[in-house]
Amino acid sequence: MTTILPGATIGFLGGGQLARMSALAARSMGYGVHVLDPDPDCPAAAVASHVVTARYDDVPAAIAFARTCDVLTLDIEQVATDAIAAASLHAPVHPGAAPVHIIQDRGRQKEWLQQAGFPVAPFRVARTPTEVDAAYANLGRSIAKTTSGGYDGRGQARIRSANDLAAAGALTASATVVVEQWIDLTAELSVMVARSAAGEMRTFPVSWNHHDNGVLTWAMTPAPVSDATTSAAVTLAAAIAAELGIVGLLAVELFVTSDETLLVNELAPRPHNTFHATERACLTSQFEQQVRAVCGLPLGSTALLSAGAIVNLLGDLWPGGGQLPDWRRALEVPGVRLHLYGKKVPKAGRKMGHLSAVGPTPEAARDAVLDAYARLLPHGR
Ligand code: ADP
Ligand code: MG
Repeated sequence: MTTILPGATIGFLGGGQLARMSALAARSMGYGVHVLDPDPDCPAAAVASHVVTARYDDVPAAIAFARTCDVLTLDIEQVATDAIAAASLHAPVHPGAAPVHIIQDRGRQKEWLQQAGFPVAPFRVARTPTEVDAAYANLGRSIAKTTSGGYDGRGQARIRSANDLAAAGALTASATVVVEQWIDLTAELSVMVARSAAGEMRTFPVSWNHHDNGVLTWAMTPAPVSDATTSAAVTLAAAIAAELGIVGLLAVELFVTSDETLLVNELAPRPHNTFHATERACLTSQFEQQVRAVCGLPLGSTALLSAGAIVNLLGDLWPGGGQLPDWRRALEVPGVRLHLYGKKVPKAGRKMGHLSAVGPTPEAARDAVLDAYARLLPHGR
């Protein structure tokens, strides 16, 4: 693979907060940044010299965009694979259409994982309410998830009893769903793998992730789990990245069950919310690593400088009436940094930014971000 050197232009398919943070890393290394996104005001637009407003399935727009770039990468796995394939005739796209095709449909992704021998929770693919009922009869307590378009717990319905079947079955009106057995979790972890075109891989220290109602609330690294669990998680994630042949980043979300086994929850071929603390906790951030991997530069060291943590800032935190949370209060906590994505409209559940901290232990870093976060709540302090 030819190396794409600084001075060249990286195109981001999708201009959300992940592209914004990777674009900032690209800019500081001297790359140009172009962005394609349906929203002209997307978070990465502020860092780009050229923004194309187009849908993710607009093939002619993807081709025209690729002609202005030296290499392309993704901020979101929902970019249509025919747009990726067409763009890749004009500039390399990493990751490419093949792994994205597998990952972008939850059902296809789970089937691929299962067939490749990776551990997943028992599941069934269902297209109708009757098939959802049958899946529940087979799996018991479970969760239905749409196969495409769902994120941050959206497009999901929990099936605790037969009373929940109507709501879960209703999801099939708009999309095929995966019905997955409910897992008695003791922890959620994630592993970030960077893989070069030559097959070189680097993994970041494992992240420990806390979700509320299906949305990530906070994450800390390195995950306080046994060495055996850490190395099993890393080995599993690296094997998946190699099997997918991914070039760029692959985030692997994992469940730890009550008997300490690991199950793969889902994959993401891009930077991941649970690795935002790598900007401060590791020698190389996930964002710089994405740039290095897709440009064919040597992968950076992922060595830990310090433990780190982040807490997400969702739109729910905004007081309304055009007011802002009182950032000064959070920033009084020593060492806490504020990261905002430049989104103009706060909406419930929308990721607007995060707070980060480092500390002597992951728990200390976590406590610092949660302390800062509590000060932003209406009755904080
Ligand atoms: P999303 O694409 O919205 O991140 P996930 O499949 O990762 O969807 O689900 C979001 C969260 O919901 C998970 O991180 C976990 O906390 C919870 N969850 C999802 N599936 C299960 C399951 N089978 N058993 C227990 N909890 C689950
Ligand atoms: Mg998830």
